[in-house]
Amino acid sequence: MTSKVFLPKRPLTVAVLGSSGAVGEEILALLEERSFPVGELRLLASERSAGKQKIWKGENHTIEEVNSGSFKGVDLVLASAGGSVSRKWSEIITDSGAVMIDNSSTFRMDPDVPLVVPEVNADVVKTHQGIIANPNCTTILLALVLGPLEARKRIKRVIVSTYQSASGAGALAMEELKNLTQDFINGEKPVSKVLPYSLAFNLFLHNSPLQDNQYCEEEMKMVNETRKILDLPFLCLSATCVRVPVLRAHSESVNIEFNEPFLVEEAKHILKEAPGVEFFEDSNGNRFPMPTDVTGKNPVAVGRIRKDISNANALELWLCGDQIRKGAALNAIQIAELLLAKS
Ligand code: NAP
Repeated sequence: MTSKVFLPKRPLTVAVLGSSGAVGEEILALLEERSFPVGELRLLASERSAGKQKIWKGENHTIEEVNSGSFKGVDLVLASAGGSVSRKWSEIITDSGAVMIDNSSTFRMDPDVPLVVPEVNADVVKTHQGIIANPNCTTILLALVLGPLEARKRIKRVIVSTYQSASGAGALAMEELKNLTQDFINGEKPVSKVLPYSLAFNLFLHNSPLQDNQYCEEEMKMVNETRKILDLPFLCLSATCVRVPVLRAHSESVNIEFNEPFLVEEAKHILKEAPGVEFFEDSNGNRFPMPTDVTGKNPVAVGRIRKDISNANALELWLCGDQIRKGAALNAIQIAELLLAKS
């Protein structure tokens, strides 16, 4: 790999690989919203979207099919086109001198690739050799909460259950949820094509492949990636991941056991101050974060922090976050901003 470690201080040539997808769309919106210094923008996808137009900063841009010449002169590639696509193009990208920030799982556990949540482990970004991995969406949301708590008291064990929206499976899954819900209401039998089962008035366990230990791939991503981000290789963590009929934004129920008791008020104080976290709790009104509260928003909303009545050293909490934003596109752009700040 020959990429530069940090990005040059000038408007950059930026390629968005996967620009027609759910994450790609959000990356484009955030590049504009955050005034990222884009000199030239290249929109890349497969032959399916080639030729389609997108308006960015008021100007028309045409999506091109990615090819071996797509990365010539590019400084930064924001990739969200799936693991096999990232693997296929990574060498050409880094050989062309660009930095690749990758949303797929392909490089996340590679010891030579930093896995970064800027609010939690920004320092590791400087070790990159051309590729930086964006963690799994549910993992990013969880790490934002575990990071500041672990900095105060050692975490012994985490048990997490996720409530993952259709958007986690991409733009087509979101459309499918809308269409199948309408079919159901119309009295028709909902037949899914994108997700394995209909999500209309239904939920199912995350359908990523089951491992030998009977955890699915998504659950093991949460275990392994959280360990890497927090630099806690032996952290005990058990996850159950569930797909729910929510259009956008994931939720998680989290039980965190520490080595000693953690006062609820202290945990609340820490999370109120934590970057990327919004404390959101109305106990009198019995109102806590919901996916629709965080849709289109950057912070992860956390609330319902309480002492676990079954374990004196454990806390229970609830969180919701827009995983297309903070769980993917925003986190990737924040990593790029870190590289710019360190240049
Ligand atoms: P998506 O909506 O299905 O979009 C996929 C994108 O990849 C589209 O732009 C598609 O282009 C492009 N693509 C597919 N095959 C390609 C190929 N052979 N060559 C070039 N481009 C190709 O999926 P998504 O939700 O945005 O997810 C994209 C990636 O981000 C995945 O790796 C996913 O695991 C990861 N991720 C997603 C989320 C999330 O919440 N959705 C969160 C974190 C990470 P066409 O239009 O041409 O098919």
